Amino acid sequence: MRIDILTLFPEMFSSYLAASILQRAQEVGLLAVHLHNIRDYAAGKHRVTDEPPYGGGGGMVLKPEPIFAAVEAVLERGRQGDRETRRQGDSPSPPLPLSPSPPLILLTPQGRLFNQRVAQELAGREWLVLICGRYEGLDERVRQHLVTDEISIGDYVLTGGELAAMVVVDAVARLIPGVLGAADAAQEDSHATGLLEGPHYTRPESFRGWTVPEVLRSGHAANIARWRREQALRRTWQRRPELLLAAALTEEDRQFLAILAEGM
Ligand code: SAM
Repeated sequence: MRIDILTLFPEMFSSYLAASILQRAQEVGLLAVHLHNIRDYAAGKHRVTDEPPYGGGGGMVLKPEPIFAAVEAVLERGRQGDRETRRQGDSPSPPLPLSPSPPLILLTPQGRLFNQRVAQELAGREWLVLICGRYEGLDERVRQHLVTDEISIGDYVLTGGELAAMVVVDAVARLIPGVLGAADAAQEDSHATGLLEGPHYTRPESFRGWTVPEVLRSGHAANIARWRREQALRRTWQRRPELLLAAALTEEDRQFLAILAEGM
C-alpha cells in the first residue's frame, strides 16, 4: 500500500514511522509512506500557506492554492513513480497502485468517525492520500472541490491533523496482509470480531501471588479457545454492552451471556 501524507510538519512523522512494525512493513515493501510539505507548494518568496479568515475572527486558515498544487503534484508523481518502479524491477516499493484515483482524505474533527470498520475499508485500497489541517483549518474550497473523504479520529479537537493521520496509518497498516507476524494476528483483536478481546498473560506463571488461569496452562486447545471466547464476551458485556447487539454470536455465546445476566 502507498500512503501520501500532506502536512506542514513532515518531521513529526519520522520517528514513529522508523520503528517497530511500521518500519518493518516499509522495509519489506508492504507499505510506502511519502511525506510532502505543503509549504513546498506555496508560491512566492515567503511561501505563505495561511492567511487570516475572511469576515474576521481569530486564527489563520490554510490557503487553497498550495494544497491543490500539492495534491495534483502528488497524484502525478505517484503515477510517474509507479512507472519508474516498474522499470527498475528490483525496487523495494510495494505493489503498484492500480487505481489512478486514490481517496483524498481530509483529517478533520467534522469527518466520519474512524473505527476498525473504516480501517478495514481503507486497508482494502492500494493508495491513500491524507491531508492534515492546522490552525483554524482549511479553506472550505478544499473540502468542497478536492477531498473525497473526511475522517475524524474522535470528538475532540487536536492542534493539527498529523496525529490523526498517524493513527489512520497505524491502524490501516497492521491490517495489510503480512504486516503482522502471524497471519491471523489482527483477527482476534478488539473490534475486529465485534467484541473486545479477552485478557492476555505471559511469564512468570505466578507474580506476587497472582497466578495465570489454570486453563491457559492446560495445553487443551479447545478449552483455551472456549475460555478466550467467554472472556471476550464477558469483557464486552461489562465494558461495551452495546457492541453485543451487532456482534455475530453463536447459541453457545448467547447461553453464556444469559448466565452472566442472571448473576447480576
Ligand atoms: N476549527 C476547526 C473546527 O472547529 O472544526 C478545528 C481545527 S483544528 C484546531 C486543526 C486541524 O487539526 C484540523 O484542520 C484537522 O486537520 C486536525 N484535527 C483536529 N481534531 C481532529 C480530529 N478529531 N480528527 C481528525 N483531525 C483533527
